[in-house]
Amino acid sequence: MISPAALDVEFRLALEAVGRVLFIERWPDVPLRWNRRLRRAGRAVIDRRGSRFRAAFIEISPVYFEVYPEDLRGILVHEAVHVGLAYLGRPFGHGAEFRTTCEAAGGLLHSRWLPGRVFRYRCPVCGVVLERRRRAADSRWCADCVEAAETAGEDAYASSRAMQLVETVFQGPEAAAAASQPVCENGVDADSGPAPLRYPVAPNDESPPRAGGP
Ligand SMILES: [Zn+2]
Ligand SMILES: [Zn+2]
Repeated sequence: MISPAALDVEFRLALEAVGRVLFIERWPDVPLRWNRRLRRAGRAVIDRRGSRFRAAFIEISPVYFEVYPEDLRGILVHEAVHVGLAYLGRPFGHGAEFRTTCEAAGGLLHSRWLPGRVFRYRCPVCGVVLERRRRAADSRWCADCVEAAETAGEDAYASSRAMQLVETVFQGPEAAAAASQPVCENGVDADSGPAPLRYPVAPNDESPPRAGGP
């Protein structure tokens, strides 16, 4: 695990690198903390009213950096760019200015999968296999087959058509070149996951269906 002192140094260097590109000499106080529950490498949590910056903090995943400590600076720069743009009152999602700033400051635009378990589900109708990072609490259905069944006037959410868990595998260390995931969920181009899943909507269902993303 990265020591608090080493983390401080890395974070200060990341803020300086982003500050040079965005011309920020004095940063607001930006707390940095670990969050074991993150499902990505990191995230910037920004409180802004309209274009007025109020506060921000950054969280990073100990699960991710335990395995990929070499990505630390690049991810910290990425998150600092979100904060810096928000601080300057600019759009702070993963847009064009974000990407050019992030690259100029030496940040990563993509990260690797969080190491951990992967659940493989198979659609009994069409046979497609989908991977999910979380085990489904309820049944899920394949979006294509739901659509086809609805078009045909069949019972799209019959239990016999629900996705079946076929395998649980551990996804271990991944090569840096394989980095293809969005670093975080900040921004306008929020990733909705590799393939859609569908959930039945009950008339009195108060809780909205949960997203099927990784
Ligand atoms: Zn299917
Ligand atoms: Zn981001």
